[in-house]
Amino acid sequence: MTKIKKIFKIMNCQKCKSSIDKNFFCKKCNKNYLKNNKIDFRLNEKKITDSFDKKKFFIKKYPRLYTLLVKLFSNVLIDNNLEKFIKKNISKNMISVNFGSGNFKIRKDIINLDVIDYQNTDVLYDGDELPFKDSSVDFLFNIAVLEHVSNPFEVINEFHRILS
Ligand SMILES: [Zn+2]
Repeated sequence: MTKIKKIFKIMNCQKCKSSIDKNFFCKKCNKNYLKNNKIDFRLNEKKITDSFDKKKFFIKKYPRLYTLLVKLFSNVLIDNNLEKFIKKNISKNMISVNFGSGNFKIRKDIINLDVIDYQNTDVLYDGDELPFKDSSVDFLFNIAVLEHVSNPFEVINEFHRILS
């Protein structure tokens, strides 16, 4: 299954929660979620105002450089065993989501969800409720993200709802 088909399979209209058509369009709400080959659920386009975030955004355009800088300067270290773990436990047919992916691409088939429109973002999202159906996702990554959300408990409830 291609990634876009995977996304189609698990997503709902963010507004009315009903199914969308194959063009990622909700007839009920007259709303189109497909924009420039990405699925855009954002209520507001995120403007980066903080100067440190601006620098981070710029560097994140270069994932290899960003990874190197994280390894050198940050205590948020992406485990080297992650790749092995994924190979062993997650098949390519499974539906997996990287929540708050930034510009990281863990593996090609994994759906990247982020508030910011990076090159590797597949689904743009900024609401409280995740735009996915109940029990639709097989695997969810969440690496150094919960400290950035306004209501982590709500987000964890949403993880629980969407995971199969
Ligand atoms: Zn709708």
